Amino acid sequence: MSGILVYALHHDGAFNKNSLGAVSEGARLASELGTECHALVLGEAAGLPDELCASLGRFGATKVFRVEGPEGLAQPVVDAMATVIGDGGHEYALFGGGLLGFEIGAGLSARLDAGVCMEVTNVRVDDGRLVAERPILQDSQVSDVHYASGVGVIIGRLNAFEARESGDADAAVEDVAVEFAPHSLRATMVTRGEQRGADVNIEDADILVAGGRGLGKAEGFEQLEALAGALGGAVAATRAVVDAGWFSYAAQIGQTGKTVSPKLYLAAGISGAIQHKVGMQGSENIVAINKDANAPIFEFADLGIVGDLNKIVPRLTEAVKARKGG
Ligand SMILES: Cc1cc2nc3c(=O)[nH]c(=O)nc-3n(C[C@H](O)[C@H](O)[C@H](O)COP(=O)(O)OP(=O)(O)OC[C@H]3O[C@@H](n4cnc5c(N)ncnc54)[C@H](O)[C@@H]3O)c2cc1C
Repeated sequence: MSGILVYALHHDGAFNKNSLGAVSEGARLASELGTECHALVLGEAAGLPDELCASLGRFGATKVFRVEGPEGLAQPVVDAMATVIGDGGHEYALFGGGLLGFEIGAGLSARLDAGVCMEVTNVRVDDGRLVAERPILQDSQVSDVHYASGVGVIIGRLNAFEARESGDADAAVEDVAVEFAPHSLRATMVTRGEQRGADVNIEDADILVAGGRGLGKAEGFEQLEALAGALGGAVAATRAVVDAGWFSYAAQIGQTGKTVSPKLYLAAGISGAIQHKVGMQGSENIVAINKDANAPIFEFADLGIVGDLNKIVPRLTEAVKARKGG
């Protein structure tokens, strides 16, 4: 049998939007290929009731493989996907992206000796095979990636695929027992939390208050959220702080993040590296706060303030509130 196998991440009784987008995309492609889209879910049995698994049918999955195992970690999912693909003969594995999707997709590609393409923004059917489209050269061009391997691994850019309900049919649910490799069980989930900024679409904001490593710690973003709130804007981030886990990747600006062009871009504690600059240089007004007068960001800021952001940002917030009468 051929087909497309999609990994669907769930937490607290719900699948995330990114996973539902991947299932919808898998279903669209499967129908064009004349095959089926299946989903794989993995977690503690109690957290994966029949109704939840079957609900992926509304997004186009015809079958859901339910695997009992530790939720939210990459290696057990690699084991499970490899087992199901080995038994079912799926031709493609599709992931919605995000850090977990990247890690699982890369691991699966190594395990199956499969071709892999990440940061995919569109997939099309060409001559009965899938072609992944991936933006390159700072998103100025799109490259076509064809798969020569027996199994092709497609990893989307985060939220690139739209979640679409295509009907109200339930998916069939099949339990699969997977033997996890010893190394797959060595990592354990210690804690889970919501990342700040994950639900904000920074591309739509007229005013962006962006923070960098100069904030010193994740809590440093609280003062930026207060300033953005006073200004009626949104908060964005550099890759350095996203990589450090201080802020959500959804709000990252730059070469490997989003490109924005707000009316006002206020950068606090950001050095202005070229990879960041390419994502925000189209902003109408750039204001930078940095304690280093030689920081590169001052070379392209319209207004530069040399000083400690911890002193300047709260005073700016107060001034904006006072001006707005609040
Ligand atoms: C292939 C590749 C892709 C990349 N893609 C991206 C991308 O998409 N987006 C991106 O942002 N980066 C990207 N980077 C990383 C980029 O090169 C920089 O490392 C990153 O942008 C730096 O982030 P930063 O400005 O937060 O940190 P830093 O460069 O460490 O700058 C921190 C700044 O804060 C200032 N500061 C410190 N304390 C204070 C204070 N109290 N008050 C005021 N200022 C203070 C410092 O003077 C400094 O200028 C990429 C790199 C590579 C190699």
